[in-house]
Amino acid sequence: MIHILDIVLPLDRSESDDARKGEVARVLGVSPERVKGLRLRKHSIDARQREVKVQLRLEVAVDEDLPGEVKPVWTAPALAENARRVLIIGSGPAGLFAALKCLEMGAKPIVLERGKDASARRFDLAPILREGRVIPESNYCFGEGGAGTFSDGKLYTRAKKRGPVADVYRVLVAHGAPEKILTDAHPHIGSNLLPNVVKAMRQSVIEHGGEVHFETKVTDLLISGGEIRGVTVADGREFLADATILATGHSARDIYRLLAAKGILMEHKPFAIGFRIEHTQPFIDRQQYHMPEGAPRPELLPAARYRLATKIDDRGVHSFCMCPGGWVVPAATEDGQVVVNGMSLSRRDSPFANSGLVTTIEPEDIAHLIPEHGIMAGIVFQEMIERSAKAAGGNAVLGQVAPAQRAADYLSGKISSDLPETSYFPGVNSAPLHELLSKQITSRMREGMRLFNRQIRNYASSEALLLGFETRTSSPLRIPRDEMTLQHPEIAGLFPCGEGAGYAGGIVSAALDGLKCAEAACGANENGGKI
Ligand SMILES: Cc1cc2nc3c(=O)[nH]c(=O)nc-3n(C[C@H](O)[C@H](O)[C@H](O)COP(=O)(O)OP(=O)(O)OC[C@H]3O[C@@H](n4cnc5c(N)ncnc54)[C@H](O)[C@@H]3O)c2cc1C
Repeated sequence: MIHILDIVLPLDRSESDDARKGEVARVLGVSPERVKGLRLRKHSIDARQREVKVQLRLEVAVDEDLPGEVKPVWTAPALAENARRVLIIGSGPAGLFAALKCLEMGAKPIVLERGKDASARRFDLAPILREGRVIPESNYCFGEGGAGTFSDGKLYTRAKKRGPVADVYRVLVAHGAPEKILTDAHPHIGSNLLPNVVKAMRQSVIEHGGEVHFETKVTDLLISGGEIRGVTVADGREFLADATILATGHSARDIYRLLAAKGILMEHKPFAIGFRIEHTQPFIDRQQYHMPEGAPRPELLPAARYRLATKIDDRGVHSFCMCPGGWVVPAATEDGQVVVNGMSLSRRDSPFANSGLVTTIEPEDIAHLIPEHGIMAGIVFQEMIERSAKAAGGNAVLGQVAPAQRAADYLSGKISSDLPETSYFPGVNSAPLHELLSKQITSRMREGMRLFNRQIRNYASSEALLLGFETRTSSPLRIPRDEMTLQHPEIAGLFPCGEGAGYAGGIVSAALDGLKCAEAACGANENGGKI
């Protein structure tokens, strides 16, 4: 008989087959000899108590063998000559997953990406890191795989529908992601492996009849009679199609400006801003795993993570995109800005832990900018903060030096006389971060940090470094779409998609939205079927 069983083991016995078998036999009330096979289904670490436990979900075969396991593969039928043509603008997770789904549904995806392929893009990160020179079309946000390629590659999502989430993981594994992501409670890929995964996905698109065009920046939408026919790209070429999925991410500010100039409906939405906070990883390990000072982290434990959240004055203050064993990276898309974000490698073995620490900005918080900037007010607000970060970082023409402050000094309103070591390669400059954002934001951030200090002792001590600013957590705008057809309410055939359109926040939710939009663009919803 086959059972699905949850068991809990102490950390040091959790990898032992005998220990697993013994516990399974005990729970089922059978002798260990009758347990013929075990297969891991879910692995999670419970470090809430002093003794760390491991929770395992196992597929257990009693008195019979385990059925064989089918490795995830991705495939699609051959395309018909007259296949529906779907333009996909952007090759981030939303765009790439949309392209694969189009092929599964018999449509031909044509992906247009302003940046370079992942290999060429990797070379363009060196000037940002070493000279502080941002290449506008090829950076941590733009290029093959989008913002997800040189990221932490965390694949956690709060999306409720586990089925489609598991499908996303299987597609990633079919394209070279480690199989562990199918069983880890907090799956993660890492920036060293992600580029090959997105390259393999592109290969699948091309081999199955789709097209992928790099260094092809969309500069205009061809709209007539309330319908989109295609797009124009920077070199003047036109691409025509039956449907267009707009998955350009939240850093494509020229796209928002284009839509605003064309009078296409967009809406303000809440977003978040704040800073990156960096600690040493051993500090976070000690706090989260209840380890004594100086004790090495047991080999079976991954670099510890955390998640903190509270509400102050009716606004959220929370940690965001925590990167254990990671690096703080410059995520600007132009030279005049400084923007920080975080990434890690699959081993998560840098000596630092960083996380976004942000607060919600509601549309009413930027109301003062609306009379002058209208729908672009949220973007203008982000840009002002990014420019102020550049100035406080020293304002070198070529420079990604970030303004920084010890967390304890931020709380007491003092400029730091010196700064702790940081993983941020372009360097940091001591600056009064407590004066650079509005009084309301600073007061919320301070109150939140004082609370977090009680949840993780010394979280906001003088050893913690704040780097400014984290502005690209989410889009301040939503590009509306009909709930049923997923098309823009004013433009037939235009499917706003992913994080930039306001329907996702993170790699997995963007991928899920890509799948959904592709189904709609391929006509799945045309008979009134709601996905
Ligand atoms: C450094 C960093 C680390 C991150 N870490 C994580 C993480 O660990 N886990 C997680 O879930 N999320 C992480 N994120 C966020 C995540 O990457 C995004 O949520 C996700 O990539 C959004 O997917 P998307 O497809 O909607 O948009 P994007 O990934 O932003 O992709 C949009 C694509 O469109 C292209 N594009 C833009 N304009 C045009 C145009 N005019 N013409 C043609 N192409 C265009 C861009 O070049 C880009 O490739 C991280 C982000 C960054 C920057």
